[in-house]
Amino acid sequence: MTKKEIIFYLSGGNDRELFERSSAIRYSMLGRKVYLRGLIELSNICSCDCLYCGIRQSNSNVKRYLLSKQEVLQSARYAYDNGWGSLVIQSGELCSDYFTTLIEELVQEIKTLSGGELAITLSCGEQSKDTYRRWLEAGADRYLLRIESSTQELFERIHPQNISYTKRLNTLQSLIDCGFQTGSGVMIGLPLQTIDNLADDMLFLANCGIVMCGMGPYIEHCETPLFKYNSEFSHSQRVQLTLRCIAILRILRPKINIASSTALGTLSKQARHQAMEVGANVIMPNITPEDIRANYSLYQGKISDLDLNSFDIEYFNQGIPLEVTSK
Ligand code: SAH
Repeated sequence: MTKKEIIFYLSGGNDRELFERSSAIRYSMLGRKVYLRGLIELSNICSCDCLYCGIRQSNSNVKRYLLSKQEVLQSARYAYDNGWGSLVIQSGELCSDYFTTLIEELVQEIKTLSGGELAITLSCGEQSKDTYRRWLEAGADRYLLRIESSTQELFERIHPQNISYTKRLNTLQSLIDCGFQTGSGVMIGLPLQTIDNLADDMLFLANCGIVMCGMGPYIEHCETPLFKYNSEFSHSQRVQLTLRCIAILRILRPKINIASSTALGTLSKQARHQAMEVGANVIMPNITPEDIRANYSLYQGKISDLDLNSFDIEYFNQGIPLEVTSK
């Protein structure tokens, strides 16, 4: 697909054709499968001040937490006992020996408790190559680091000065070089973001060497600096754009793993299901201890649970021929 074609589809030029093309590829390449990855939000303590994020360091209204090892292992056991194949450990950004060692030990212990069966994805931000190597050697399989926006100017507008676009690109590359199955993604509908920027994002994600992608709508958080800037797109337009982005990436990269994000589910439950049909093949049910979930408030209204049974039943009631699988 050329950039011109991507722009045509992103602008709503022919949704029907786009979604037909992408679902045909989804079903022929990946069948009806939806993979489950249990999401554990390890900590909302963060040293970064990203202008869009509710748990940024400067937000003093956040009740900060760090899960105990025991809590993480309990969640991991829940995933394992239910036959899920995989876990994601996500966290605010901490760069310290303590944090590096904590993740290292958690990875080792989760591998032990599951007899090596649970695959582990980490989503713990920018770290040194040495830290990444230690986590990989401990047994982590995958790493997610979003580029957030591949347009340098926009990236710089939504991040503080100490977060560099070039460094983000290099860090993403170092994850790939290190041997992680690496994922990235963007936010869709940011203030100042244009269709042209999003078309560049799709080409970037298709060509940067990743094997997984998580992308979702940007959702305002009133305690962030970005709140006062308006997006060109309404929430429902962001939902539609997200579906188009997922479909386009599925066409560009038939085999890539694409998550249907929590942010998409927050704006529209139905859209999270539609995403599965037009190209997504991964969902990440939240298995953080329930009393703590609300504190991982990246954006307003963030849904904090996903009832698998009802998810499942809803699918089949609607007659959508998808198969939720554990691996
Ligand atoms: N510290 C980790 C995890 C960050 S949270 C890291 O930097 O990789 C995971 C993702 O949530 C971010 O990468 C960002 O894309 C998304 N996110 C943060 N704030 C958001 C908002 N206001 N709306 C939508 N998504 C948001």
